[in-house]
Amino acid sequence: MNVAAPPRTPLDGWTARRLGLACPAPDCPVPVVDRDALARWQSRQLAEVVAWARERSPFYRELYARLPSNEPRGLRDLRGLPFVTQDDVRRRGTDLVCVPLGDIARVVTLPTSGSTGQPKRLWFTEGDLELTADHFRHGMRALVEPGDRVLVLMPGPAPGSVGALLRVALARDGVEAEAYGFVDDCGRVARRILEFGADCLVGVPGQVLWLARSREGREIPVGRVKSVLFSGDYVAEPVRASIERAWGCRVFEHYGSTETGLGGAVQCRAFAGLHIREADLLFEVVDPDTHEPLPRGRWGELVVTTLTRRGMPLIRYRTGDSGRLLRGRCACGSVLRCLDRVRGRMADEVDLGGAERLTMADLDGVVYAQEWVRTFSAEVTDAAPAGLSWPTACGELVLTVTARGRPSRARVEGLEADVEAIPAVAASHTGVRIEVTTGGETAAPGKRRIRDTRSRG
Ligand SMILES: [Zn+2]
Repeated sequence: MNVAAPPRTPLDGWTARRLGLACPAPDCPVPVVDRDALARWQSRQLAEVVAWARERSPFYRELYARLPSNEPRGLRDLRGLPFVTQDDVRRRGTDLVCVPLGDIARVVTLPTSGSTGQPKRLWFTEGDLELTADHFRHGMRALVEPGDRVLVLMPGPAPGSVGALLRVALARDGVEAEAYGFVDDCGRVARRILEFGADCLVGVPGQVLWLARSREGREIPVGRVKSVLFSGDYVAEPVRASIERAWGCRVFEHYGSTETGLGGAVQCRAFAGLHIREADLLFEVVDPDTHEPLPRGRWGELVVTTLTRRGMPLIRYRTGDSGRLLRGRCACGSVLRCLDRVRGRMADEVDLGGAERLTMADLDGVVYAQEWVRTFSAEVTDAAPAGLSWPTACGELVLTVTARGRPSRARVEGLEADVEAIPAVAASHTGVRIEVTTGGETAAPGKRRIRDTRSRG
């Protein structure tokens, strides 16, 4: 059987044009990225953005006080630049802004998860937002074609929001997008999908799953929704597979955050890694303890440098996200580097006392594999399970599972066994208890993390 290669990611031609590359042959309308040209571009942009920042931002001027004025000369000097932390952004805020405030088109305030209470603020110029819109437009070409309709189950329509940028970007390709906002009521969202005639959905994995496993979500005819883009959270394999089965669609994954300028990296039709927006962003992976850069293939903390942002560039910004760069080349033929699925925030990992740390990603991979589960929350408590005491069990992992109907006892016990087999749980003295509710809530789950309410550290 002759299996056709997947089409090259549309981000490849877009990036090649940004680099000023020509088409390889007269009959080939799309230029192709080459790694050397990209490295030259990234070297030049890196030198430029550092010069831009140290000239205009009090924070970067201090940060680079001891950096020779002719550095960085290129990518090879990247390691010599100090990191920028989330705390820097929180505490120094406007000191990182490089343009007059009148040139700022959008300020995004992110609620803090830390103890300082200070929110993070990020500042974007019109030009910064335009680059994101351009990225959305080209990245989405893997999912939609002219005439399609996209329902965005993420924030909008405020100017500069994901919903608004997608609407503007896709309109240029003859694709109509509507920003609905987060999934608030499954009945309303399902009705809107049908009325609007959505061919594509963009949303947060846990929320789209919540919708797909609702009564109203299951009534959406197979084939109505042709593609789904997941963004904003870790994508567990069973979540992806479950959505594809439920609606007969293809699921694409995107990684991005406000810090990356919303757009970051997105899958192509090879459905392997997520192609990085390499003309604008440079990703490194560093060892979380030593902060030394790690080779491709190794997991660590993702560090991002915005190569083209003017409002508030982030240079070697430690994202706090756990990820890795993939080795080798994507099956679509593009040389654009790929990120593996990003596993979420490292600060949200919980130490149960074994050799490994428990993550929401671990739990998602096991709990969502049960088709009767709509959503769940997780908490680690001091309490030992009934009949057990330390050291047989120290602490208890309590999962509150919202089910579709009332699951049988065997199913719940089966899930319990699966959770107990997660390496971080198996290696520790932690009991597992599962509480099932059939829940009357309509709103989809918000930001999900494991709550740790143990009194000891
Ligand atoms: Zn590809």
